[in-house]
Amino acid sequence: MRQWIVGLLALASVQALAAPTPWQSIDHPVPGASQAIGEFANGCIVGARPLQLQAASYQVLRPDQRRYYGHPDLLLFIIRLSNQIRHLELGDVLLVGDMAMPAGGRFSTGHASHQSGLDVDIWLQLPRQRWSAQQLLKPQPLDVVAANGRDINAAAWQPQTAMLIKLAAEDSEVTRIFVSPAIKKQLCRVAGDDRGWLHKVRPWFGHRAHMHVRLRCPADSPECREQTPPPPGDGCGAELDSWFLPPKPGAGGPPVKKTPPPLPPSCQALLDRHLVSQ
Ligand SMILES: [Zn+2]
Repeated sequence: MRQWIVGLLALASVQALAAPTPWQSIDHPVPGASQAIGEFANGCIVGARPLQLQAASYQVLRPDQRRYYGHPDLLLFIIRLSNQIRHLELGDVLLVGDMAMPAGGRFSTGHASHQSGLDVDIWLQLPRQRWSAQQLLKPQPLDVVAANGRDINAAAWQPQTAMLIKLAAEDSEVTRIFVSPAIKKQLCRVAGDDRGWLHKVRPWFGHRAHMHVRLRCPADSPECREQTPPPPGDGCGAELDSWFLPPKPGAGGPPVKKTPPPLPPSCQALLDRHLVSQ
């Protein structure tokens, strides 16, 4: 019975999320000085920049989706991280997944956040060879977590995977990184004495083949709303353990908000102007 209800709820949430959003019809950045507005899961961006598709140190996945826009700080972070990867010879190319749409805002599927141009999904595999255009259009994720979700998949996990996540976490612009609880568990295991970066790495549902990296609110964005910082400590104790306990009744997956909260006024105004000009 419970499985049946969980299945129905999952179906309902997929349908709720699949409805198109007006943000998807905005195909160019909103002109103006770059500014991230609102919250990561309820916001938008003015003056977003596209990540250049041609680069030696990274490649953009599913470029046809045009989700490669962000605040300039996000672009700089991606370039910085990809250069570090090459410099340290951890891989030849960083694989960049979804960032934000040209004006940010809510996606119809796949993400609750990525709305203000400060979030990026970075894939955990670090290819030794660049991917072909075809591979980029239909990328094959490498699941680094075991089927039972409790540990990493030893055949897919490499020391470079941990180093990639650590490098991102050590970046002073980064406030949070979301990964599967099994990945966090592995990082807790291998971190040794150097644990100052671990508190930024947060366990979350999914995130078995990519990490989600979130930056701090930029100095040029007074309407950007920062999240509460992660709790102190490395997050390797009771909090992490709680992810591996049997689920409580009714808690079958990530929380789903069916009705989106009201938009920040600046984002609503931006959307209204766009709809009038159509
Ligand atoms: Zn993400």
